[in-house]
Amino acid sequence: MGVEPGIRADARPVTADRPSPHLDLDLAAVRHAYRTMRNALPGIELCYAVKANPHPAVLALLVAEGASFDLASIGELDLCLLAGARPAGLSWGNPVKKITDVRAARAAGVTRFTTDAPADVALLAREAPGAVVGVRLAVGDDGAATPFAGKFGASEDEAVALLGQARAAGLDAAGVGFHVGSQQRDPQAWVRAIDAAARVAACLGEHAPRELNLGGGFPTPHAGGPTPDVDACAAAIRDALARHAAWWRPRPFAEPGRALVADAGVLRAEVVLVAERAGRRWVYLDVGRYQGLAETEGEMIVYRLRTPGRGGEAGPVVLAGPTCDGDDVLYRHADVRLPLDLAPGDVVEFLGAGAYTSSYASVGFNGLPPLPTHVRPETPEEGGIDLH
Ligand SMILES: *Cc1c(COP(=O)(O)O)cnc(C)c1O
Repeated sequence: MGVEPGIRADARPVTADRPSPHLDLDLAAVRHAYRTMRNALPGIELCYAVKANPHPAVLALLVAEGASFDLASIGELDLCLLAGARPAGLSWGNPVKKITDVRAARAAGVTRFTTDAPADVALLAREAPGAVVGVRLAVGDDGAATPFAGKFGASEDEAVALLGQARAAGLDAAGVGFHVGSQQRDPQAWVRAIDAAARVAACLGEHAPRELNLGGGFPTPHAGGPTPDVDACAAAIRDALARHAAWWRPRPFAEPGRALVADAGVLRAEVVLVAERAGRRWVYLDVGRYQGLAETEGEMIVYRLRTPGRGGEAGPVVLAGPTCDGDDVLYRHADVRLPLDLAPGDVVEFLGAGAYTSSYASVGFNGLPPLPTHVRPETPEEGGIDLH
């Protein structure tokens, strides 16, 4: 496996002493997750949401598996094209677009866009005439660990009007869709959203959308309670689609992000300092909010932790990052327990960390580098490579 295009030319070969922290990414687990979702959602096109983990090796693997891609920027467009994705399999899912975004997408042959506002429909009509457009509905994201909280989506009435506007402006007003909120733990969220989409379709009668975007949100296991698996979500989706199938049979597609990559990643970090402060034990790591653990904000995602080589009695800790920023505390409320004999230099592993970590790392806050990814190739005889 060579150095991928677009990657720093000075990427170092892996040595026994990999830098800490780093993300260990297992490509076989990405392939397994993709095939599991394929099997759970037969006949449903899967558009990988690139932002979850845009690593070139992940994109190349998913291209080879036949995946499509959901992208949000020119940078993600370039990454998909470099990985060999067909423009016909690319869908611009971000309703917030610049003119230059639409022009670049069109120049690259992207013809499918999501929209949710009149000005964006007008932009698409002007810059991408004839494009295939889907309207994103605002749906309740209760049950999501990381909700969108009203940032995106049209009401049902607005969606009907937007599709009418798109049609009148010469766009192919083909779709309706939603995103139920990321790390959505309630399969019924898809049922409620599909029902909302069906109400929009019913309002449009002969112009009912022929595509249904089921979005992302499929959850992955973390600490703090059980998570439905993809089969549970798929069963809810199938039942909801079946209830409307007598009069509406749209072509469904989905945009899974975290569900395809989270379980493939282990973030390996190191203890820097252990200290007692006001009766609590603080453990400071060499990774924090700014090196990829952005989803600990508000303690939304509580990762499962492992401490290889330290198996003794555990006690509660406040877990903090290494920077001089007061917000760089990972968990102070969550019930996080680590071995009492944990000491500087010990390894702490974050499981299920393949999604929304490396792509969230800052470029150099406090002089700390972004989280490097070590890709574990699928064939053991190949050596890995360190990539930023
Ligand atoms: C982020 C995003 C996704 C992926 O969400 P997950 O919760 O990671 O599955 C899908 N669609 C859109 C439009 C997104 O912005």
